Amino acid sequence: MITEELFRTDSYLKECDARVVGINDRGGIILDRTVFYPTGGGQPGDTGVLVRENRDEIRIATTIKGDGDENVIHVAVEGSAMPAPGETVTARLDWDRRYAHMRMHTCLHLLCAAVPFGVTGGKIGADKSSLDFDIGDGNLDKPAIEAEINRLVAADRPVGARWVDESELDANPDLVRTMSVQPPRGSGSVRLLEISDVDLQPCGGTHLARTGEVGRVEVGKIENKGKRNRRVNVTLAAM
Ligand SMILES: [Zn+2]
Repeated sequence: MITEELFRTDSYLKECDARVVGINDRGGIILDRTVFYPTGGGQPGDTGVLVRENRDEIRIATTIKGDGDENVIHVAVEGSAMPAPGETVTARLDWDRRYAHMRMHTCLHLLCAAVPFGVTGGKIGADKSSLDFDIGDGNLDKPAIEAEINRLVAADRPVGARWVDESELDANPDLVRTMSVQPPRGSGSVRLLEISDVDLQPCGGTHLARTGEVGRVEVGKIENKGKRNRRVNVTLAAM
């Protein structure tokens, strides 16, 4: 059973009605549709509640991807009462946490655009996030990176996702050349996240609609992670 991923087309949905289609053998709850993002691409899985018809709440500790057909698994806190297959629930996000992830994820794409080196890793958190870069024998100028990110925030560029066929990528090699990360191949289509005039890359995460919503960004410590690798930490000002 493939769960319909409503967050892929509208990352601002805070809740949805859904039907329980199954409980897997590890106690994960499978719904027919959901607003919960499963851990992936450096972005943590969503937390929240499933509200039953009798108003009881099942607290969701995290959301993950499974194997095969289980693309979204809602993991309840231990000891929770389980819903029955066929039951209707309201799936409601811990929105403040998710929105913080959206601000951070879009912020990291701006960081990616502000640093002219390849990304080797990344981590998104509600309070602090980071990207790792292979800088070769180059170096990083922290105040310049911070100024460039905040310039891109102030420019309030639109952010949007679109699906493209691999055949379209093959027909437009320039499109691939402009991407900061090479698109994965083999699934037929690729989800591209575009920050207009700023950044284009394959990404499955949940993003803001405009860069202005990121707000003021501070670049924290730049950590040495080996001869060529640097970790750039970012935090966001309170909204
Ligand atoms: Zn991304």
